[in-house]
Amino acid sequence: MCRHLGYLGPPVPLGRLLFDPPHALATQAWAPRDMRGGGTINADGFGAGWWPPGAAAPVRHRSAMPIWTDTTLPTLAAVTSSRAVLAAVRSATVGMPVVESAAAPFTDGRWLFSHNGVIRGWPSAVAAMARDLPVEDLLTLDAPTDSAFLWACVRARLRSGEPPSKAVAAVVGEVVAVAPGSRLNLLLNDGHQMIATTLGHALSIRPGRGSTLISSEPLDAGTAWQSVPDGQLVVATAAEVEITPLFSAQR
Ligand code: GLN
Repeated sequence: MCRHLGYLGPPVPLGRLLFDPPHALATQAWAPRDMRGGGTINADGFGAGWWPPGAAAPVRHRSAMPIWTDTTLPTLAAVTSSRAVLAAVRSATVGMPVVESAAAPFTDGRWLFSHNGVIRGWPSAVAAMARDLPVEDLLTLDAPTDSAFLWACVRARLRSGEPPSKAVAAVVGEVVAVAPGSRLNLLLNDGHQMIATTLGHALSIRPGRGSTLISSEPLDAGTAWQSVPDGQLVVATAAEVEITPLFSAQR
């Protein structure tokens, strides 16, 4: 089920995340190692969002095609550097459309968002949650998919001023309450902070000296990678990473 990654730190060429490492995101698209809970390859589209130098908001490239069929991207990625990135490759859940607009990252303003997993009982299980969203948000969903719906829910909370970690954890909590068994690895990046959850899928982090990488699977065999246990909330900047239980009482 989908693979995603986020980066914060000194500018790096996108190629160093997407193509160059032995287990880069493009490799995870056709040879993932840890696809818990379904799917075999991630061939139903891909996307990357990044901040150009000095830009206040990210730019995004998405496609409904497998990442390995884009013959231009490796060259562009080699010469495009950014200090903040969110990229994903997609394995569409059965019944969901394979279209460009269903590929992560979803974006609004400075935010980039991705979801790895599935909402069980979609869409009826979350119909009551949908009723609480602004009608305009529902009418302008990127695609009729669980992931686009999750982004609408998180975005509504962010817009109302909720801290990002609270917004992400609250949406996961709400969905699990009405759709038990859902797999909800979410990833949010605003260019300065990343929020990630583990619920049902693999996730690893590589905290470094002034840079942080979060990825469904480690990009290489480096010993700095740490696997994040299930049921955790990761809050990361380039400088530090904090991991706490997703459903802790304090939040
Ligand atoms: N359910 C989402 C979709 O179809 C995400 C799928 C995934 O994680 N493989 O887009």
